[in-house]
Amino acid sequence: MNALFDRIAARIDAKCEDLIALTQALVQIPTLNPPGENYREICGYLAERLGKSGFEVQLVRGEGTPGDSKKYPRWNVIARKEGAHAGDCVHFNSHIDVVEVGQGWTRDPFGGELIDGKIYGRGTCDMKGGLAASIIAAEAFIEACPDFHGSIEISGTADEETGGYGGVAYLAEHGHYAHVDHVIIPEPLQKDRICLGHRGVWWAEIETHGEIAHGSMPFLGDCAVRHMGAVLQEMETSLFPALARKHTAMPVVPEGARQSTMNINSFHGGQAEPEADFTGLPSACVPDRARMIIDRRYLIEESEEEVRGEVVDILERLKSERANFSYELREMWSVSPTMTQKDAPVVASVQKAVQQVLGKEAEYVVSPGTYDQKHIDRIGRLKNCIAYGPGLLELAHKPDEYIEVADMLDSAKVMAHSMVDLLTGEGA
Ligand SMILES: [Zn+2]
Repeated sequence: MNALFDRIAARIDAKCEDLIALTQALVQIPTLNPPGENYREICGYLAERLGKSGFEVQLVRGEGTPGDSKKYPRWNVIARKEGAHAGDCVHFNSHIDVVEVGQGWTRDPFGGELIDGKIYGRGTCDMKGGLAASIIAAEAFIEACPDFHGSIEISGTADEETGGYGGVAYLAEHGHYAHVDHVIIPEPLQKDRICLGHRGVWWAEIETHGEIAHGSMPFLGDCAVRHMGAVLQEMETSLFPALARKHTAMPVVPEGARQSTMNINSFHGGQAEPEADFTGLPSACVPDRARMIIDRRYLIEESEEEVRGEVVDILERLKSERANFSYELREMWSVSPTMTQKDAPVVASVQKAVQQVLGKEAEYVVSPGTYDQKHIDRIGRLKNCIAYGPGLLELAHKPDEYIEVADMLDSAKVMAHSMVDLLTGEGA
């Protein structure tokens, strides 16, 4: 194992220039999402690259998924390299989309400039650097070990930043993960951490009802905003403190997210905000509708029924106690929490690899928000999936986002070590 791995590590070091150029090329294709630009271009680029390295390549369009259109088709690329003997399939999945640029950049967001060992640009860290590292790792492994067992797959998928429905969810629904045994998602979780999963999500919209009347005689109507104020007050006095008391055994980072949380995503009541150039006054009306969207993140120790029940309890209590209180609750989106077991084969293998490459034990973490693991878990029904990749999560979606070349090299070695472990007879 060690002699073979040392040869592969040396190959990865020798591919440093290639790794930099590949990352730069990917960053220079602006795959902004929304709306989902240049997916075809980046998939074409990856297909050509991986085709040259001996992969069989397939382009799959997430037809009819949210956002898919003639102008913005949701393209994905899947590349597969078959080994010489039967064995497991190791799948590396990266999303190809990046979020908007935003303000505050001092570098060209799509330049991919290399300065002092760092490559700058939108998506360098989240997660084109991770994608490039997995490609270099796989190529180095295949060159050094052409008669490996099983197969290696690399996918570049659409729309992770907007839910992943045209990407990993579509592929999972269409059976593209059915034969996969191990999944590594090279999201920027840091080269010495293994991300086992994420918390759950429950989004809902609450609407309270009132009755419109003249604002000078509010007693002739019924104010929906005051009803919603009562909902908020209940949340402040009972729900938020209750959430703060619920702690999880999941190793969520940052630590503040090791409890249940809820964000009030939006709050609307009364007349709509006027256009910016409108100089008139609002008319005197009692609002008859108020709406609030809540973003509840829950723990593996809780169930979706419990989470929904807490909100329904508040609304039902108000209905019985408060005159004329009526409401509607619309559930918008939910994702179950997921956590791969520490003794799962892919976790054990990457843990061993981190120890070998970095000389330390990898820290186990769980993400406060969700990522594409949710679809692999839910539709692909595969419980052997982690996120592991170079880069600092704190830099994701920020101005002057960058990835360190040294981190990409290290994590590529970890990924390659893990392939030696899972796909050769030489696993230690
Ligand atoms: Zn990402």
